[in-house]
Amino acid sequence: MIVAADTIAAIATPAGRGGIGIVRVSGPRTPHIAREITRQDLTPRRAHLASFFDARGEVLDQGLALFFPAPHSYTGEHVLELHGHGGPAVLALVLARCLHLGARLAAPGEFTQRAFLNGKLDLAQAEAVADLIDAGSATAARAAARSLSGEFSQAVHAIADALLELRALTEASLDFPEEDIDFVRAADAAGRLERTRAELSTLMQRARRGSLLREGLTIVLVGRPNVGKSSLMNRLAQEDVAIVTEIAGTTRDALRSHIDIQGIPVTIVDTAGLRPTDDPIETIGIDRTWTAVAQASLAIVIRDARTTDRDAQDSDILARLPPSLPRILVHNKIDLCDTLPQRVQPQAAPVEVWLSARTGAGVDLLEAAILDIAGVHEDLESAFLARTRHLEALSEASRHLDAATAEITGTAPALELLAEELRSAHEALGTIVGITTADDLLGAIFSRFCIGK
Ligand code: GDP
Repeated sequence: MIVAADTIAAIATPAGRGGIGIVRVSGPRTPHIAREITRQDLTPRRAHLASFFDARGEVLDQGLALFFPAPHSYTGEHVLELHGHGGPAVLALVLARCLHLGARLAAPGEFTQRAFLNGKLDLAQAEAVADLIDAGSATAARAAARSLSGEFSQAVHAIADALLELRALTEASLDFPEEDIDFVRAADAAGRLERTRAELSTLMQRARRGSLLREGLTIVLVGRPNVGKSSLMNRLAQEDVAIVTEIAGTTRDALRSHIDIQGIPVTIVDTAGLRPTDDPIETIGIDRTWTAVAQASLAIVIRDARTTDRDAQDSDILARLPPSLPRILVHNKIDLCDTLPQRVQPQAAPVEVWLSARTGAGVDLLEAAILDIAGVHEDLESAFLARTRHLEALSEASRHLDAATAEITGTAPALELLAEELRSAHEALGTIVGITTADDLLGAIFSRFCIGK
């Protein structure tokens, strides 16, 4: 265990007033601070009713005091929790008293950082603490809780362990050249590698879905004036966020609304209608539309289902979207149509939805199309709330495993190159949970392999 020299303290509950407010202290001076503030000898892990005293012996507050001696605490160090009343002024006084007694103000995330340094949590779990607190939806919170409980880390470890065995096998053959490639072949290294790749691919899918829960989607609504962009935004947000009028060009600025579609956080951006104009303000609005488009993960191009002169302008809009930006073409106002038009331009907009922003008919189809494009085919219950860092590490591992497979199945496999790819893949996985040291590998080689030569 790494023993930090200093003791940290912070108010652990959110700013503002509440029934309870907690000051948390962690580090070597904690027992001293606990005794001075409560004037009691606290039994470990027991809730004590206590007064919190200032330096002159006056009572600052009264509440519960809990002392967790090292290493059985959140941080692995001595921890004190003072549960007082949740007012900003009284909490500031209790905190000031702790600082006066030798603690310093904790930096953001420092308690969790100490928990990681003391091996209470691995890196992915430590990150999940922050993600759980920040989770914007129940699904995201459940996914973060899965990561925090170590499910994600265990899945990473399982793959890392399989890779470690393969590395040990390959490197043993390198160290003892007489074993050569036939030794690796006989151990079915290719088969093992294939199974590990399949596991990695499943893990990546679960992590990708989780990353969607975390990062969310940004959807931009674009189209000519008056086709119903603001109405659709209000319909999706289920409230009046944008002004709806019959006067074309009402929306001059990009408006944002945050909603959630089946647990996925979505930011919808309503933009100024696109049409040729000399109006300087409208021109600025249209420029902002394209800026919003450039930042979006999905574009919904809206048109009026009744119009037949759509082709030129709507095709122009579709053509101006960045080629890689996924898009849905929405034909709005079907409540005013007698018959629905035929599919148009399947090549420019593979997904088309007919709906009415006014009545809500077809909006469920649009939501389904959005989820489909976002890749949410399965339910999100198995997702891990992965971060971009995790996804990048997983893809890096996957690239190295592809290269390792190419090497092992090639006509003249080079053991050195295979070993190198396996090592890189293993290390990439190690960065997720915050391990990977050369010692690990040495230990694994000598403990799992009884070479005896
Ligand atoms: P925007 O300029 O594209 O944002 O369009 P708005 O949302 O402001 O709508 C323009 C006009 O079309 C308003 O009078 C809306 O009430 C009307 N509108 C929008 N969607 C529908 C729809 O689905 N059906 C009908 N009947 N009218 C609609």
